[in-house]
Amino acid sequence: MKRRDEHLQTLFEKSVPGRVGYSIPLPEVPEAALPDDIARDKPAELPELSEVAVNRHFTRISQKNHGIDTGMYPLGSCTMKYNPRINEQTARIPGFARLHPNAPISGVQGALHLMHELGEYLAEISGLPAVTLQPAAGAQGEMTGLMIIRAFHTANGNPRKKVLVPDTAHGTNPASCTICNYSVVTVATNERGRLDLDDLRSKCDEETAALMVTNPSTLGLFEDRIDEAAKIVHDAGGLVYCDGANLNAILGVTRPGDFGADVMHINLHKTFTTPHGGGGPGSGPVAMRDFLAPFMPKPVIAEDSAGRYTLDFDRPQSIGRVHEFFGNFGMLVRAYTYIREMGPENLNRVSTLAVMNANYVKESLKGLYHLPFDEPCMHECVLSDKDMPNGVTTMDIAKRLMDFGIHPPTVYFPLVVKGALMIEPTETESPENVRRFVEVMRQIHEEAKTNPQLVKGAPHTTPVGRVDEALAARQLHLTADLLPPDADEERQLSFDDQPKA
Ligand SMILES: *Cc1c(COP(=O)(O)O)cnc(C)c1O
Repeated sequence: MKRRDEHLQTLFEKSVPGRVGYSIPLPEVPEAALPDDIARDKPAELPELSEVAVNRHFTRISQKNHGIDTGMYPLGSCTMKYNPRINEQTARIPGFARLHPNAPISGVQGALHLMHELGEYLAEISGLPAVTLQPAAGAQGEMTGLMIIRAFHTANGNPRKKVLVPDTAHGTNPASCTICNYSVVTVATNERGRLDLDDLRSKCDEETAALMVTNPSTLGLFEDRIDEAAKIVHDAGGLVYCDGANLNAILGVTRPGDFGADVMHINLHKTFTTPHGGGGPGSGPVAMRDFLAPFMPKPVIAEDSAGRYTLDFDRPQSIGRVHEFFGNFGMLVRAYTYIREMGPENLNRVSTLAVMNANYVKESLKGLYHLPFDEPCMHECVLSDKDMPNGVTTMDIAKRLMDFGIHPPTVYFPLVVKGALMIEPTETESPENVRRFVEVMRQIHEEAKTNPQLVKGAPHTTPVGRVDEALAARQLHLTADLLPPDADEERQLSFDDQPKA
């Protein structure tokens, strides 16, 4: 096997037989052999390393990564905003961090209090009075909400068959419908980038369980006729599910419960600054109208007349549990901390600033970059590569941004805009950073005109060059012996030289 530079090696390549990262006293009792039925046939193939080698390995990898703590991360729809460190401090308070989920109710009153109060805050913010904190992500919140909708219709005699979903929807929306055994009927977007109400009307009937609508939508536009849309669905006996992933744009400005939503999920890891990315724990509470509360997951945290918190399991119509214990409790502590730290006025300012930053980007770049819907935007704006010189594509622009220490925006989504670049600066970027982003985008446009190969070959300064996303996902090459024979040492994780899949 070709031996790679130390800084490119995996832990397995760095392994030295017999090397350990611990020192413990020798046993004072004779060693006993493990019974055959539980002993391994052969030793586990684990890397053997010193503590310092392991520490350096992971620290080095972390330095090659891009995160919100290292730079701007304008990944549309994902709301990659800064996670205040105070959240981490409260989540690490031993009374929270070391709680056992099976501790008796009398011993976890503080935790139950926090969750109960967080539910009340989310009810106030969403305009929907009943809240479950169990779901662990937005997608699981969608599933939970649709299960509640299904249970409601079933209790009324007919679960109904279909859910209406706009063609701009996040991929999780149709997936959640399918999991809940509903068929998806797509609703068109009109020339203003909004729900086509005529199309909605023609598809809405007594077999419609719900309209599943994202507001603001994934085009970064507010559905300004959402009340009419909700009325069409309600008149047919259906419910309105609001995908609340874009709640960051409307905090304290309007509430889904006030514009017709019956049930929604809230992504704490987006709007309420609990960290996310890399598949880490999220949290997707679901808020709903009172008439849906009997169906929500159990147990429900309740407060008795003496001010004690209890768990109500006596919920015969409940859809059951969707998560063990209480959901991702550490995320709940972080979101609670953020809401308390901000207070109502500052939560409102979050949205004002997020919307202003996105509009600044849109107004500064329109004319240079194609703007499919020239409307005031919410917390994100969608551009496209339609008018780029020399065939420079959205992917090229995204990769070139990395050379400037900026994470690419969301690309090729929403699907209704060909070559979409969906940019969400968030409110936590300063005016200087937002301006710099605009300047970098202008420079990339200039390069596309004068030096297109530079953009098409990007990124040039990152530890790994341009990868073929599809190939890298299908064939995860990590070790030297699997690399293309003539791969350049420094850039050997790059698949530049391979044909596009
Ligand atoms: C992020 C997102 C989701 C899914 O949320 P997860 O927490 O990633 O499961 C759904 N809809 C929209 C619009 C989103 O942006």
